[in-house]
Amino acid sequence: MFPVRRMRRSRARNIQPILRQTHVGLSDLVVPLFVDHGITAPRPISSMPGQERYPVESMGRVAEDIRNLGLPAMLLFGIPRHKDEEATGAYDENGVVQQAIRDIKKAVPEMVVITDVCACEYTSHGHCGIVGNTRQGTDLLNDPSLELMNRIAVSHADAGADIVAPSCMLDGMVASIRGALDEEGREDTLIMSYSTKFASAFYGPFREAAESGFSFGDRTTYQIDPANGREAILESELDAAEGADILMVKPAGLYLDILSEITASGLPVAAYQVSGEYAMIKAAAERGWINEKPAALESLTCIKRAGADLIISYFARDAAGWLIEEQ
Ligand SMILES: [Zn+2]
Repeated sequence: MFPVRRMRRSRARNIQPILRQTHVGLSDLVVPLFVDHGITAPRPISSMPGQERYPVESMGRVAEDIRNLGLPAMLLFGIPRHKDEEATGAYDENGVVQQAIRDIKKAVPEMVVITDVCACEYTSHGHCGIVGNTRQGTDLLNDPSLELMNRIAVSHADAGADIVAPSCMLDGMVASIRGALDEEGREDTLIMSYSTKFASAFYGPFREAAESGFSFGDRTTYQIDPANGREAILESELDAAEGADILMVKPAGLYLDILSEITASGLPVAAYQVSGEYAMIKAAAERGWINEKPAALESLTCIKRAGADLIISYFARDAAGWLIEEQ
């Protein structure tokens, strides 16, 4: 007997759209942006075609453009004029991110402003905090760096950030920042923790974008080994217990199993489609090897399908246009 269950029935052109399970919406997307204190005109990032570093003075206008696309949220990375050993530029009230937050909020008060809280763009050595001697040579020092993260997070909240996003993968960073924010009367500022950040080779293009390459060592002593699933879940649970409001998996596309598992925590989960994931699609599309728009939209849809509530993606602005076209 021929099968009663014919799967192709549901794939008829007019039926398929009404049975589609996963829809990426504009409110799912977060636009990551690089704000550079040392430039006066936007500067293209060669390893991330279509992406630019923006001068701080332009951020109000950039925020208006993003709002006009229907996108509700931005994630800011700062590139300071000067770097030093202690990352003092990271918590300067007139620093690049602090100034950008104020300009964005003035131009578009409802914009959700999320800030990356880390020191690697601000340190001369390129590591994510204070470095010193450890048993294994010079490396990032955990506890001395927490105080630095507290200062950075508080300065962003004071400037008007809605959500601070610590990305340094230090032990205890969420609890430490939560305490510091509450002490300053910033109990309404959310913490989106880069809770589950892998030591990935796919961050390569970002280092050019943010000038955050390092002068020695690497980040494998503070980010998770891509091979370790259980450790990744434990990292997320610890940050949830420390009071994170939103968890994050980074990178996104290669870690959908982890993303899916973390949704069991009950907290909202963000996925960060990183620079290398973006650059791969862009580069292949430039060569005519894949079609950019369907490839990018497929990547975003699959990240959402795995359970992401928010997707941080360099495709966000293009995708906003494509999603509106498709409606
Ligand atoms: Zn960092």
